[in-house]
Amino acid sequence: MRPEGFARHALRAAGAAAILLVLMAPGCSTAAENPPPAESKANAAEPPASAKGEKGDAADAKADQAQEKTWTPPTFTARRRERDRMVETIKNYGKHYGWRFDAADQAVLEAMAAVPRHQFVPMKVSSLAYGDGPLPTAHGQTISQPYMVAEMTRLLRVKPGDRVLEIGTGSGYQAAILTHFTTEVYSIEIIKSLAETAAKRLKRLGYDPVKVRCGDGHFGWPEHAPFDAIIGTAVAGKVPPALIEQLKVGGRMVIPIGPRYGIQRLMLVEKDAPGLVRQRSIMLVQFVPMLHEDPTEK
Ligand code: SAH
Repeated sequence: MRPEGFARHALRAAGAAAILLVLMAPGCSTAAENPPPAESKANAAEPPASAKGEKGDAADAKADQAQEKTWTPPTFTARRRERDRMVETIKNYGKHYGWRFDAADQAVLEAMAAVPRHQFVPMKVSSLAYGDGPLPTAHGQTISQPYMVAEMTRLLRVKPGDRVLEIGTGSGYQAAILTHFTTEVYSIEIIKSLAETAAKRLKRLGYDPVKVRCGDGHFGWPEHAPFDAIIGTAVAGKVPPALIEQLKVGGRMVIPIGPRYGIQRLMLVEKDAPGLVRQRSIMLVQFVPMLHEDPTEK
């Protein structure tokens, strides 16, 4: 294993925004306001019960279910051979890190082979898109090393219909990978311009299920909690309590924990019962920090 730098997937993002972009938090506030809480939405924004009512809700639920069944991720042929080579590299890492190469592991490899990473990195580093390393994106952020994206995805064990929360949308690449497992993907990015760019990129490429919100991921996304899986792609000093709170019992969270400079560990957090949480260190990693405000808004 390469020492610490080995798992140097980067985390900084490049731009992103999405199908649904909800702007929140101080740095994100120039264009829109916080979404109304569920109750006020029901009272104000939604049609009155008489106009919609249970039938309407049932129809919505049915439409959601239909989308869950029928939506399939987009396919891309450009640079497929490079992606296949990238997948071979990931497999080699996997052999050292206990992958079983069962159906679940194969599904992760298939997702990695399918998502066009070159569409998520800046033009000037496009030729390096399928190399074995993190890449710089915008605002000092990065897109993680492909193996790290694959490993974190694998650890999450997302099943169809699961609700997943990502902290740190960045380029939107990890979120796009997650759509290969479920259509319930929620992603939060603190840097407004990155959130917007990622949202647009995901929409343009056809990753419709991803909902991106600009905000501080330390607080999770309570309106859509609880989550079956949570993935943090920026390092925090400790697991943010709101994320533990918003994880379902039986749910899994993968998140780097540690100081900004120094030893960081990728942690697998499992919630066995309310208030009963197990944390396991998986490997040493290097991630960009989980911020408390948008540094571009200062
Ligand atoms: N998952 C991304 C890479 C993430 S890089 C991808 O696939 O491209 C880490 C990202 O976390 C950066 O974009 C950074 O701006 C964002 N970030 C940092 N602190 C955050 C916070 N508190 N809440 C949400 N996003 C945060």
